[in-house]
Amino acid sequence: MLLDGKRILVTGVLNDASIAFAVARRAQEEGAEIVLTSFGRAMSLTQRAARRLDTEPKVVELDVSSPADLEALAGRVGGTVDGVLHAIGFAPESCLGGGFLSAPWEDVAVALQISAYSLKALAVACRPLMRGGGSIVALDFDNSRVAWPVYDWMGVAKAALESTARYLARDLGAEGIRVNLVAAGPIRTIAARSIPGFEQFEEAWSVRAPLGWNVKEPVPVASACVALLSDLFPATTGDVVHVDGGYHAIGA
Ligand code: NAD
Repeated sequence: MLLDGKRILVTGVLNDASIAFAVARRAQEEGAEIVLTSFGRAMSLTQRAARRLDTEPKVVELDVSSPADLEALAGRVGGTVDGVLHAIGFAPESCLGGGFLSAPWEDVAVALQISAYSLKALAVACRPLMRGGGSIVALDFDNSRVAWPVYDWMGVAKAALESTARYLARDLGAEGIRVNLVAAGPIRTIAARSIPGFEQFEEAWSVRAPLGWNVKEPVPVASACVALLSDLFPATTGDVVHVDGGYHAIGA
């Protein structure tokens, strides 16, 4: 199996619709031992989702904006890890749905910290656990070339996430740590539902993705994450794999 003997830290499981839940499930199917993270009021939801996995994983506390949690993470996880999934995104209401010109900096700063800077914070927190090298994978919504409707400051945060991954790849490569992104098409999760007008993405994908696209099916995205977490891509870092039915390749 692809992840036999590997231990993978999976952030971002809120419920069984979370993309991270599908990754945790696929990773277990491929032989991995999983550790989940959650925080605050989401913890009981995450624990409920954890019980739905084939083997119930340990859940450790991590608010990625908390220096104390980041400092304590290696001790809470214990042992070593071979891979880390970053599946964390958040933007205050003002930052999504059409208020691009009026969102205050305090809110934009939160979106950038939780959705982009957190990849650096998580990577540094996990570094002591990855002394033998490893793979860090984060979830992206492609913002390399265009402005989307309604995605607003979350789009800016994703562009920052893309750049952050490249700088991390540069600085962690010598330690054998790879850093890559999976740019997913729209999936119906709690985070997606919190974006007013999200159905515009669903409609666009249904028309344009050459392979078609199912917004209720996170498994293709999860499989790509598992592949990048495995030993199948030993010489790939700082890259973005699109799992979007081919949408990004089509002009109109
Ligand atoms: P989700 O709501 O299930 O997951 C978002 C997660 O972020 C939750 O588990 C939440 O607890 C976590 N989170 C928020 N603030 C946090 C903090 N301060 N510390 C730690 N964790 C925190 O939604 P999802 O769609 O599965 O989102 C996972 C990732 O996938 C996000 O980065 C999202 O932007 C990305 N993504 C989603 C889609 C989509 O259409 N759903 C498409 C492309 C990329």
